[in-house]
Amino acid sequence: MTINRIHHLDGCTMRPRGLPVNGRGILVGHVLAVELRGGDVVLVDSGIGRAARREPRRMLGAAFVHGFRPDLSESGSVFAQLVDLGLADHVRHIVLTHLDVDHAGGLSDFPRATVHVHTRELAAGSSVRGWNARMRYRTALWGHGPRFRSFSDGGDSWNGFDGAQVLEGLTDEVVAIPLPGHTLGHVAVAVRSGENWLVHAGDCYFHGSSVGRDRNDVRWGAELFETVMAVDRRKVAANHERLAELVARTDRTFEVFSAHDPFEFEKCRAPNGANER
Ligand SMILES: [Zn+2]
Repeated sequence: MTINRIHHLDGCTMRPRGLPVNGRGILVGHVLAVELRGGDVVLVDSGIGRAARREPRRMLGAAFVHGFRPDLSESGSVFAQLVDLGLADHVRHIVLTHLDVDHAGGLSDFPRATVHVHTRELAAGSSVRGWNARMRYRTALWGHGPRFRSFSDGGDSWNGFDGAQVLEGLTDEVVAIPLPGHTLGHVAVAVRSGENWLVHAGDCYFHGSSVGRDRNDVRWGAELFETVMAVDRRKVAANHERLAELVARTDRTFEVFSAHDPFEFEKCRAPNGANER
């Protein structure tokens, strides 16, 4: 085992305007901070960082700021939360599920980190065309020239998911699983937690009911947003089914969570939850 401890942080709380996404009316920006033995820290996603909180319209785009009403307090950044944990100087790797503003918005706070992103995603974020791409990919967020290290579909199978990729320089306890649909190069990131796995599913879904969780709070806003932002709706639906199978498995615990569901985030943060070790 090379993973010491896993922290669940909210790097981007949002209150979508007029879009009832769930019973709480908020979306979180679920970020994992994985402490490795030896002291290095691996982040999964980065939330919205300090620079973007200071200049939100320029860096995040006026439509996002107006429509999603992100919390922009300094103390909400992943960087500030890592300072409190004594970990801010130890971030060596960032694994991005994809390059949307609310996931890549904190890169500039960790300029020395290697940033792992799927080749198809990096290509899409490097040649932004069309309304959907201009809204989601904000090139100012990587204007400082991060050390991107792109990866392709790997040759391994991970619990029935093909194309799994162990990332260069990282332990085999952090695995990227290509699940395109929301974006072209979207991945889920599996992180080993003892005998179990945490599966950060990014934006594969937005409401826990999509992967079979027993929930009857409002969901149409989440579904509408999911549909509007998807580059391939059939793949989005297929991803729901595959992740639901993982959630339903009984031989082992797979703690699957969306980047944005506040109920799942709360469960992961619970002191006696399966995840915080
Ligand atoms: Zn997102």
